[in-house]
Order: sequence, then C-alpha cells, then structure tokens
Amino acid sequence: MGTLVLEKLSKRYGDALAVADVSLNAKQGDLVALLGPSGCGKTTMLNIIGGLDRYTSGNLFINDVSTTAFRDVDWDIYRNTSIGFIFQNYNLIMHQTVLSNVELAMTLAGISREERRRRAVAALEKVGLSDQIKKKPNQLSGGQMQRVAIARSLVNNPDILLADEPTGALDSETSASIMELLREIARDRLVLMVTHNAELAEACSTRIIRLLDGRVISDTNPVEIEAAPAGVKPPRRKKTSMSFLTALTLSLNNLMTKKTRTVLTAFAGSIGIIGIALILSLSSGMNNYIARIQKDTMSTYPIQIQSQTMDFSSMMNTMMDARGDRSLKHERDAVYSNNIVTEMMSTFTAQVTYNDLERFKAYIESDEGKEIRDAADLIEYAYDIDLHVYKSDALDELLPVQPSEMFNNFGANGAGNAFAMNMRGMSVMGGAMSGSAWAELVGSPETLESQYDVVAGRWPEAYDEIAIVVSRRNEISDITLYSLGLMDPNELESIMDALRKGQATPKVETARFAYEDILRQTYKLVPQSSYYTFDEAEGVWLDRSQDDAYLKMLMESALNLRVVGILRPDPESQETFVNANVLYTPELTGYVIERNAESGVVWAQRESPEINVFTGMPFSIGDTLASLTAENLDEFLLTLPEAQQTQAKQAMALLGREQLIKMITQQMAAMTNGASQTTYEDNLELFGWVDYAKPDGIDIYPPDFEGKEKITALIAAYNDARRAEGHEESVIGYTDLIGLMVSSVSSIIDIISYVLIAFVSISLVVSSIMIGIITYISVLERTKEIGILRSIGASKRDISRVFNAETFIVGLVAGGLGIGITMLLNIPINIIIKSLAGVSGISALPLYGGIALVVISVLLTLIAGLIPSRIAAKKDPVEALRTE
Ligand code: ADP
Ligand code: MG
Repeated sequence: MGTLVLEKLSKRYGDALAVADVSLNAKQGDLVALLGPSGCGKTTMLNIIGGLDRYTSGNLFINDVSTTAFRDVDWDIYRNTSIGFIFQNYNLIMHQTVLSNVELAMTLAGISREERRRRAVAALEKVGLSDQIKKKPNQLSGGQMQRVAIARSLVNNPDILLADEPTGALDSETSASIMELLREIARDRLVLMVTHNAELAEACSTRIIRLLDGRVISDTNPVEIEAAPAGVKPPRRKKTSMSFLTALTLSLNNLMTKKTRTVLTAFAGSIGIIGIALILSLSSGMNNYIARIQKDTMSTYPIQIQSQTMDFSSMMNTMMDARGDRSLKHERDAVYSNNIVTEMMSTFTAQVTYNDLERFKAYIESDEGKEIRDAADLIEYAYDIDLHVYKSDALDELLPVQPSEMFNNFGANGAGNAFAMNMRGMSVMGGAMSGSAWAELVGSPETLESQYDVVAGRWPEAYDEIAIVVSRRNEISDITLYSLGLMDPNELESIMDALRKGQATPKVETARFAYEDILRQTYKLVPQSSYYTFDEAEGVWLDRSQDDAYLKMLMESALNLRVVGILRPDPESQETFVNANVLYTPELTGYVIERNAESGVVWAQRESPEINVFTGMPFSIGDTLASLTAENLDEFLLTLPEAQQTQAKQAMALLGREQLIKMITQQMAAMTNGASQTTYEDNLELFGWVDYAKPDGIDIYPPDFEGKEKITALIAAYNDARRAEGHEESVIGYTDLIGLMVSSVSSIIDIISYVLIAFVSISLVVSSIMIGIITYISVLERTKEIGILRSIGASKRDISRVFNAETFIVGLVAGGLGIGITMLLNIPINIIIKSLAGVSGISALPLYGGIALVVISVLLTLIAGLIPSRIAAKKDPVEALRTE
C-alpha cells in the first residue's frame, strides 16, 4: 500500500502545460521532496495526485488502481481516506476549535463521536499539542497551526501525505521541528513535499525530484514498481457524507463569529413573520372572544320562534340586489320603469314564512316534547296583545300613551306604517321612533338582571307595576317624554307650529326630572274589549274608542299602572335586545288577556260565530248580497233579525223587489264600512281575545351553550318528522340572529385577516430575497472553507448542505425572533385594547399558527439559500483554496 504511479501525466491550461508528460513512481516509506522554481507545476501536480484537480491526459495509479474511471464520489472517498493535505498557509477553519478542525475529516467519514474525539486527541498528542485542543487556530503560533494541520491530515490514517511548502511560512527552527515530524510520519507512508528550500530537502528527504516547466529533470532515488495488474477496481468504501448535524454545528459556529450580522439578518427576516403573527393573534383572538361571548352570555338568550319569520340573511341579500333588475338591458329610446318597490315588496313577502305554532306548542306540551322541555331552562309563550294606556292626571285632556299618537303629530303616519311590520321586536324598534315603546319583561330574572341596572326604585313584579328605561346616559328622548306625558305634548305642538310658520324657535332647555317625580307617575290601562258597548235599541255592539265622554268614564274603572322602577341598560351587558322605554310584567299581559276573554263583547261574539256583532248580520253577508236576486230575496230576508224583516217587507211593498235589493246592498255597504270581508277571527282579535293554543311566539331559554345545541337539534328532528309526515307547512323556521351575527362578524374578520396577510406576505418575499443575498455573501466569505472541506473529502452535496444549514439556522432564528417579538408586542397591544374596549387578553398567538410561521420562515429562507448554496457546491476546490 501507499504506491503511486504517474504515467505520462499532463495538465493543460489553455495552450500551456502546467504538468507535461510526467512519469514517475513512489512508494511508502519515502519522504519525497519536490524541488523547483516557482511556477514549474509543483502545486498542480500535488493537487492532481490529491484528487483536488483533474489531469488532462495520461494516467494516475493509486495503490495499483487506475483513476481514469473515477467518478466524483470516488475522488471524495479517496481524498477523505487515502490522502492527507498540508498547506503552506495551514488552511484551518478559523471559527472552529483545534479539536473540531482535526475531527472534521472523521466527521465526514461518519465516524462516531467518541472515536473521533479519541483519535483527534491522539493525533494532537502526537504533534505535541494536547494542551491546546480547546483553542481557536488564531490563538496559536504558525508552527502550532501547522502541527494542527498535520494532525488533521493524519487522523484518517492516509496512505499518502501531500505537503505543499509546509514550512514556507515558518522560521528555520520551527521548520526543522516540522520536518522532523514529517520524517517520522514518512516511516510508514508516502510523503510528497513541495519545497523551495533545497537545503532542507537535502537534510531531511529520502529522495529529491527536481522539476522544471512541468517536467521531471532529475530524480535522486527512482523506484521500480511492477506494472499494475489490469482491471483492478477501486475498493468500494463507504461513501463519505456529512450529517446535517455536522453541517449545523459548522454553520452555527460560523454564524457565532458574526453575531451582529446574523441577528440583524434574522430580525429583518422576522418582520414579515411578526406582521402575520400579529394579524393572526388579533383575528384569532377576536374570533375566540366572539365564540366565548356567544358561549358564555348569548347562549342563554332564547331561541325565538315567531308566528311569522323572515329569513334575514336572504332578505339582506335580496335587498342588496333590489335596486331594480340591472341585468335587464334596454335601448335609450324611451322611458322605462325601474321596478324597485314592487320587486322589493315581492322579495319581502317571499321571505316571510309562517310558523304553525299551534302545532308546535301542542307538541312541546305532549309526551313527545318532553325532551325539549327537559333541555330548556324555560319555555315562554308570547301573545301579541295591544295595550291601551292613557295618561289622565296632570294634564287637561286624556293623552293616549300606548298606542302613541305622537308620530301623527309630524304627519308622518305613512312612514310609520311602513315600518309597522307585525312582528314582536320589530314593532318595538319602530316604537322607539314613534314615541313610547312598551315591552314585556321577557326572560329569566338572571338574563334580565344582567341586562339592566336598577337606577331607582325596584323591578316591577305585580301586574300593575311598570318600569321606565333610561339610556346609558340617564336620558329619555323628548318624543318619549312627550308621549309618556312627562312633558306637556301641547308644548311640542306649539314648537311644531312655530316651525311651520317659520318663526324663530325658542331654545329648548334640557329638562331634568328627579327620580321621585318619575316614580310617582301612574297610567291608566283599559282592556281593549271595554271600548265596545251593547246598543240595546239596535241590538248591535258599538265601538266607542273615539268617544271622549265614554273614555273619561272608562278611566274611572281603568287599571292603575304604577311606575315602580327606573332601569338603565347595564354597560357590561353585551346587548339589550329590547329597546323599550317602558317595561311591564308578563302578569299584566295575563291580566289583559283574562279581562278581554271575559268581556261582554267577546262573549257575545263567541256565542254566535256566524254573526258579526257590529252589524247583527252574518259574516258571509258580503257574498250573499253579491248573489242577491229577485228570486232568493225572500230566503235572504228570513235570515235577518225580526225587526228588520218587518221593515224590509214594508219597503218591498212600497218600492218593489229590485229597488229593495239596491237599497239593502247600499245600506249594508254603509254599515260594514266597506269592510265586508270581516271575519269572526278578525273581530275576536279586535276585541283582544287570545287563544292560548295559538301563541304568537315561543321563546325557549337554553341553560347553556350545549343546551342550545341540543334544543336546536330537537327542533330539527321535529321538522324532519313533519316533513316525513308530509306536513311541510308545519315545519318550524326561525332565525338564530345571534348565531347569524356571530358567523358574519367572524367571516368578516377572516376576510380582513386574509387580505392583510396577503399584503404582509410581500415583506416575507422581500426578506427572503435579502436572505438569499446574504447567504451568497456568506458563500463568498467562506470560499476558503469550501476548499478546505473539499480537500479533506467533502462532496459537493456536503458543501451545499453546509449553506443550507446556515439558511436553516437563519430561518429558524428569524421565525423564533418573530414569534418572540410578537408575543412581547401582544402585551402592550392587549393593554391598549383593554383600556379602549375593556376586554383583556384579546391578542394571543395561536400555538399552531406560531409553529406554522416558524416552519414557513425556515422554508422560505431555505428556498432563498438554494441558489447560493448550489453556487458554493460548484466552486472549484483548487481555486477556492487559493482565495484568501
Ligand atoms: P508552482 O510550482 O509554483 O506551485 P503551479 O503549479 O502553481 O506552480 O503553476 C504551474 C503553472 O500553471 C504556472 O505557470 C501557472 O501560471 C499555471 N497555472 C496554475 N493554475 C492555473 C489555472 N487555474 N489557470 C491557468 N494557469 C494556471
Ligand atoms: Mg505552488
């Protein structure tokens, strides 16, 4: 082993030959000195023998193996295991310790850690440096550095040691000791040493070869080597490969030598990450907050099912589009209609669905409905009743408070009606505009108390107790004050008059009411059925709601409603769904329903469902009259009350049949006031009669979020059952307004986040490019290191791995820094949000988002570093070594 045969070896640079047809043999045990003037091709020859450079012609046999068929990987293995290099300028990796420098070649060979250490320490002992192993090369003298280089070249126990002017930079004393060492080494291997110093060569070497212009001109001790047997294959050895961990430590140590730059680069790279992480923190925090609110607070709001519902979401959509059908194209040759209103109205009606609450209530109360009853905290049935309330004291005349007539004063009746959709909740909103709005205190005491603070007095409890609601600023709107009779409506009238006449308006002072003054207020409530009295003479019922004298009398027996409390929406409460000015108890609703139910007019109407109590005629009179002819006149007359029959008969005798029919039709039209279509149900509704089996709304209060989910599922199951039975009309529809609101807010937040992230991502791209450039600079800086690594057997792939490791570290640091800074920034952001909005801990980076961002950061920097690391891998090792 340790034989070398050069056969007509040439190396050509362009036209010039650096090595020209050199044939020579060498074998183990020799210390061969290559002498010659500068530029005669010594280094080139050494590099070729060492596998750093390739020859252009001839052949090179190493240990009897021809190298003509060597592939890159064979050269890598050869350099790593059979060759040791020593250079004039030592070529140590400056950012690595002495020990790691020596270990590096073994690391590349995949030798275990302990073995590596043991052998490196042994090699360093051999060169007399066992006490310097922890130092960095720049802390050593030149001689010591060269000893480290020798130790490094020996650790893999190579057959051939190549030394290029090893003592060229050393003083003579140190040179002598290095030469001593080389001679020692040459005992059991082949050492080829290039030198200028003929004296030294004479003194130490066993053989001197002189070169001139790439040719051998003399050889003191040529050796004969038998011709190599043909077809000897290079020995298959384990492919050298650097582990990613080695690459990481190598790059980490390198990065540690330029901490400031690394940190700055990582910081620049982290800015995009910070941006995205902040957006993620805020948006996920908001969504979590909304979900939490929904879960904690809003889930206890009832599921409200109304007898009529609107599909709000699709209504909103159609309303957006309802600017007339714009897709309809027409010429500008005439005037065309834009059917805004009709289209809007038709979509409105299309969105209204009717719920069969009679069927659903029966279901809830049946055995089947037990599950719903159990799942709910409370089930309330709501009935639409009209409250008729007056203010009689303190004012000269009777003031109708509810329904309020305030809006009429503005002559805006029509507009008011347009909003008067007959829906609970909706009508309350309209009420806030038209004067006072009265609403029933619905809900469990807990939900109510979470919505309102009692400012003065107490919660209304009995049926004749009410509460006034003030705004969060303790205010009541003037229109409400007028309509409640707290301020004199005549005053409003005169202001309006003044305005109409264009007179300068008196400055309106802010009125102030002591709590006691408001708590002293009383109102008169009349059940609507008491507006109707029986007219003995005519035998019909009369509507006397416009009869002032009668109303005054009615006030005597009216129910006295007392204001017992002043309430204010709780600022902590997320939402008060009822925007009412006056709140009354469910007991009052019960009272009104009872009073109406037992009233005379209701009794009379229910007694004879066929007859309209206002006219004494059948409800079907309209149809009957339309088909009234001379033939069936007699039949018709028989259905009339006795008194009218005789009257009619007299008239017939006088006028004849045709005239009588005309007269009757006219009379009837006058009596029914044109409303010939009135039905039994219409009348009962007018009298305020309520059928308990047909609620206008059902409010189901879930105990918690899970309970709400369960009730929703049970309603869905009920609907499925109705569909299965073919009773599509009994399917219950309702709008989960809160759910709808929450989901739309969440999706808006998501959309905003995506847009912002898209913008911020641009900075990620910019920072990636920057990292690519910085990696490229690093490649330029570490060119020497690339050469050193290649000379000790690193493959191209190992080199690119070193730089990928570097970008990996930078990406990781950038990601980590970004996440860290984001978490720090979240602290002041949360403080600001807390002081602005009063909720704490909104901005929080979700764990998986953070991890994903670090991964993204690493991936992006890796991609950015790919090109520079390829450039590094492609570098010619000889040129790389030559750079300083
Ligand atoms: P030395 O004996 O001083 O070590 P070298 O082996 O470095 O000489 O160089 C031998 C000859 O080859 C010189 O003439 C040098 O200019 C030439 N040479 C070396 N490397 C290259 C190269 N990469 N490109 C062109 N010419 C080269
Ligand atoms: Mg040279």
